[in-house]
Amino acid sequence: MSRGSGPRLSGATSTVRDMIETTTSSPTLPAPRASQEGRTRRRPALSPSRAGDFKQCPLLYRFRAVDRLPERRSTAQLRGIVVHAVLERLFALDPPLRRPERAHGLLADVVAELDEEERALLGDPAAAGALVNAYFAMEDPRRLRPEACELFLETELANGVGLRGYVDRLDVSPEGDVRIVDYKTGSAPREVFEARALFQLKFYALVLLRARGVLPRQLRLMYLADGQSLTHSPTVAELERFERTVVALWNAILRAAPTGDFRPNPGRTCSWCPHQAVCPAFGGTPPDYPGWPGTSPDASPDDALETAPP
Ligand code: SF4
Repeated sequence: MSRGSGPRLSGATSTVRDMIETTTSSPTLPAPRASQEGRTRRRPALSPSRAGDFKQCPLLYRFRAVDRLPERRSTAQLRGIVVHAVLERLFALDPPLRRPERAHGLLADVVAELDEEERALLGDPAAAGALVNAYFAMEDPRRLRPEACELFLETELANGVGLRGYVDRLDVSPEGDVRIVDYKTGSAPREVFEARALFQLKFYALVLLRARGVLPRQLRLMYLADGQSLTHSPTVAELERFERTVVALWNAILRAAPTGDFRPNPGRTCSWCPHQAVCPAFGGTPPDYPGWPGTSPDASPDDALETAPP
């Protein structure tokens, strides 16, 4: 892993809706991912967000993926959604037009599309504008030719585990080298947490490897709050090890699924958990377990697919 602030390959574009998946209300912002349309019926599969939830706390995974309890979006989350939308739209422009002034115009457009409540939650758009400026300090989007923005990736591993997710930006160099880019609107993590930060991108790298047979040359996390980037060049052997980890994770989820035995794992991150009120670790009582999607005798197979965790 390495840190830096300069770009390397040729570019691509980025994502937004992953951040919305776990919340109740979606902003009226950017156009929905085109690839989502027509895909309302999906087999249960693992996304990096939900995999991370289960690793952190199995009960949190249950609340989000099975119960689908509503969550209030925070200002920071909404700001991230807005900035992702701006960058996505920026890369939809012809390269010479991708200038800071144009990006700030796109920011105004995105903010104008928010409803009143969302605008109040966002607060001063200048904070989002500062992140847009930080992006331009890290790379020049006029030099980049992304293969895709908001790219939906999906694959099924040999043992049947489905993996899916959206990549912020997929860069492909003229030589064919692939780079997966993810924007973060926070600051870079301390070194001890770098591996955790790269989990999401390794997940996408594995999906790309299995779906297309392509090993990404580089994974890049761009932290807009402090202008740092974290890069890593995965190997096939590393992704194969990662695959075994993901399979083990999914098997653990399936073991808990029939009875709903998703246990709380209290830790430092509980302070950010939106479900403390129903968590036994905090004196709460979880709602009755609704059952794993598709296990109700009355449910049709289609019901099961439509309620599968993202
Ligand atoms: S409060 Fe902590 S232990 Fe409880 S569900 Fe949330 S993350 Fe898990």
